Amino acid sequence: MSTTKKPDQAECHPMVGVPIATLKPKQVRRQIDMTLWEKLYVFEIARGIGITTKHFAKNMVGFVAPPKGKKRSVFTVYYPEERVTLPPAYRGRPVLVARADGTEKCVACGLCEKICPASAITIVAGEKDNAERYPMSYTLDMSRCVYCGYCEEVCPKEAIVMSSEYEGLAQRDRNAMRYSKEDLLRSEESVQGRLDFIRRIYSKCNY
Ligand code: SF4
Ligand code: SF4
Repeated sequence: MSTTKKPDQAECHPMVGVPIATLKPKQVRRQIDMTLWEKLYVFEIARGIGITTKHFAKNMVGFVAPPKGKKRSVFTVYYPEERVTLPPAYRGRPVLVARADGTEKCVACGLCEKICPASAITIVAGEKDNAERYPMSYTLDMSRCVYCGYCEEVCPKEAIVMSSEYEGLAQRDRNAMRYSKEDLLRSEESVQGRLDFIRRIYSKCNY
């Protein structure tokens, strides 16, 4: 059987789902010849202060006298009173997806555990009376996780997804960063945006 891909699929980037030709690397100039003006330094300091002052004044005016119909024109988010709506492409804490009855979708195949480059996942598999496999325990060590999303990508059951959760990820105690199956279970509705997103990008790349 031929495995030749269609031209548009062959050019597709596996993660972002856009043609690779459009992702050209940027040239970095490592040798920069400074002008005399720049070498004198003090003028550049004055220019930097000028830019900072301009932004400060712009934000201040936007705060004191916002444009009509807007609360303010500055883009600072007043966290935690305000929250940003994160795009579905955002990769926060990996979570396990639950079925409607509250049980995990995971069948303990071990693919995520195997592919995880940080060895952050530990699964102990079990078998139900109907011979269906399930994770007796599923441990995710978030002190190791590098948010690569490989676990999500490799999962054949859409049972683990990168959520938009970013709070509580950093802890003083590493043990507090070890999450159990029960800690990680989320309803499908709560991660629906991410599920729609991964279906879109992975199908684009003919996974
Ligand atoms: S996001 Fe990457 S590092 Fe984190 S658990 Fe998944 S595979 Fe491992
Ligand atoms: S890849 Fe998916 S189904 Fe397999 S063990 Fe990981 S979460 Fe469970």
